[in-house]
Amino acid sequence: MGVPSLFIRVSGCNLRCVWCDTPYTSWQPEGEEWSVERILDSARNEPGYRHIVVTGGEPMLFGEIVPLTQGLRALRRHITIETAGTVFQPVACDLMSISPKLRNSTPWEREAGRFAQMHEQARLRPEVLRKLIADYEYQLKFVVRKPSDLDEIRQLVELAGAPEERVLLMPEGVTPEALAERSVWLVEVCKQAGYRYCPRLHVMLYGNRRGV
Ligand code: SF4
Repeated sequence: MGVPSLFIRVSGCNLRCVWCDTPYTSWQPEGEEWSVERILDSARNEPGYRHIVVTGGEPMLFGEIVPLTQGLRALRRHITIETAGTVFQPVACDLMSISPKLRNSTPWEREAGRFAQMHEQARLRPEVLRKLIADYEYQLKFVVRKPSDLDEIRQLVELAGAPEERVLLMPEGVTPEALAERSVWLVEVCKQAGYRYCPRLHVMLYGNRRGV
């Protein structure tokens, strides 16, 4: 956090989180097609950004992420991939930022619940989670809505076999007010459990806007 980074955001996701803050990559996917070479050219033309974050949507859905990350590595960039951890690809990656989705993400109330069953069945893939953890430097980042989410987080951390210091808890919310309200109790949860607290710095600095 706090490291100036170039973001590559893909559009398209296999999940439909009820609180998704990038619905233009999931619920209503949009965007224009760029070739791998064009993306690499863009990165090459921004030599000031040594750190690159590949995010989405779900970037691991797409086979092109393999040559893309290999190309970024050839440019000697530090590569972070943000993924929900449900799909594996043999990517080049320096930090696998895995954000497994909790029950609080399932969209039972949104669009008459038409994506809820699909989301519920797809949101956790323990075998993929374990392989990502085994193959890459990683962190586990959970989006938290309420204190009762903690039981589920503990179960998943145990399932993954991850030490506490690899676990980050991030408050859900797209306004500084909502984040401030949740941070009060979430910080205490982190202190008790030995997890790391993860603010949503871009929302605090710029608001819930695209391209920041
Ligand atoms: S996994 Fe990420 S991009 Fe996909 S619906 Fe959930 S929050 Fe949105």
